[in-house]
Amino acid sequence: MSRTTIAQATLPQTALDRDDRDDLGDARPIAPLRALDNGDQRMRAELAVADLLTALGRDVTSEHLAETPRRVAASLLEMLTPREFTMTTFPNDEGYEELVLVRDIPFHSLCEHHLLPFRGVAHVGYVPGDRIVGLSKLARVVELFSRDLQVQERLTQQISRYLTQELAARGVGVVLEAEHLCMTMRGAQAAGSKTTTTAFTGVLAQDNAMRRQFGLAGVGLPA
Ligand SMILES: [Zn+2]
Repeated sequence: MSRTTIAQATLPQTALDRDDRDDLGDARPIAPLRALDNGDQRMRAELAVADLLTALGRDVTSEHLAETPRRVAASLLEMLTPREFTMTTFPNDEGYEELVLVRDIPFHSLCEHHLLPFRGVAHVGYVPGDRIVGLSKLARVVELFSRDLQVQERLTQQISRYLTQELAARGVGVVLEAEHLCMTMRGAQAAGSKTTTTAFTGVLAQDNAMRRQFGLAGVGLPA
């Protein structure tokens, strides 16, 4: 029995009342991992931003900066709170057993070392087992983990592990290409540099020919 099947057995009925109910697939709600946005947190974040600006020698009582703490706190909370979505899978009735690849999914995240953005594209593929997934859900999974304080390596692995577990796929491949502003706007100032990270599981880890399909689809893999 696959893990997906176990998950179905514990599926709450209300899950099917969500936005994807007309898909008639296996629909499970995915709650945001980090529900950060409550009033108290927002207020404390605003005060902290005002303190930071003051510490940097800025006058937060000036007309220009008066609303900045509120905006910065709201922006951070938005960027750190993933949106709820429903993971919808369907039976793989046709027995499709090749790579399914969604390329160029845009994402942005926040580097946990500098609180500066890194952003780029994710290429997410899998080789189905008994279930296939609604393609848009691959993009939602990327967002689920990217709206967090992150490093690109961990983000890549989290997306891969989550999909491997949720889909009981025969293999999962995740390739992220991103520009890190902490590297291009400061420090090394290596403008235009991109970082590529990869995570392959199952047949995509074991089978070079299958993994090469990522490359054939135009995804640049490190040598
Ligand atoms: Zn950084």
